[in-house]
Amino acid sequence: MRNEKGIFSECIRELIRDFLNNPEENRLFNDGDERAWADPLVGFSRGDDPVFEDFKTHIGSFVWTPLQAFSLGFQELAVAPADLTVISWVLPQTLATKEDNRREECYPCERWARARIFGEEINTRLKMYMVSSLCEAGHEALCATLLPDFSWQNSDRYGFASNWSERHTAYACGLGTFGLCDGLITASGKAMRAGSVIARIEIPSTQRPYSHHHEYCLFYTNGGCKKCIERCPAGAITEAGHDKLKCFYYLSDPVSPYVKNHYGFDGYGCGLCQTGVPCESGIPGKK
Ligand code: SF4
Ligand code: SF4
Repeated sequence: MRNEKGIFSECIRELIRDFLNNPEENRLFNDGDERAWADPLVGFSRGDDPVFEDFKTHIGSFVWTPLQAFSLGFQELAVAPADLTVISWVLPQTLATKEDNRREECYPCERWARARIFGEEINTRLKMYMVSSLCEAGHEALCATLLPDFSWQNSDRYGFASNWSERHTAYACGLGTFGLCDGLITASGKAMRAGSVIARIEIPSTQRPYSHHHEYCLFYTNGGCKKCIERCPAGAITEAGHDKLKCFYYLSDPVSPYVKNHYGFDGYGCGLCQTGVPCESGIPGKK
């Protein structure tokens, strides 16, 4: 990794792209052994960005700032919030996966279920790869969701919530805003997974091209759309938002036994609210 800070962002984008272009890594393990994830989006945020304190205020005091998470892994280092950069990526579902899932009405298609399990394993390996690459280049780094203290807790406002949210991190890094169903609507749409690492490195922040956390959702901008409500087989989405518990129970049963019986592996997922909707593959109303 070259040492001029202006080019760090390009180096990091390249590392992520290279990892995902490796067919040994980015694979669904299905008949055609297809690619699991399409081309990634990558964004950056400074460790002292006030948005991370805002997450604490809105979600709960248990939510980590980048410094809190980083200090858990590097207790011996004296680091200030401004010394840190949060690197976030979005892994969009492939067109084939989205096309299949659009046709479903109750359960995930096989590609989607595979992406939920094997694709998330790729995401975890990508996190570890980024941490080791950064550390080897002399920039201490860690992944907050892989810390032993990573946990889920209860937010008075939002129900169960983790102390490090990949989607909130992607929002902080300029990659998208939240939709009615809680998914993050990005330039590549809402059908995606996200990941991040925190590193002691200086990289200019990605400008957030929005001023509100619901800016890309048609329901919040003009009261219309609501297609994700229609798509949810569990009745877990209403005009009041996403009922996480209803969604969770539906994914546990009947989806999990369905995946085992029909696709032959332990899995879950659904994503019907993320496919066959105007925000599936882009920001609605924007080219
Ligand atoms: S489907 Fe429509 S209402 Fe639901 S998140 Fe997307 S834009 Fe918003
Ligand atoms: S809210 Fe949950 S159950 Fe409903 S469509 Fe989305 S993932 Fe499926």
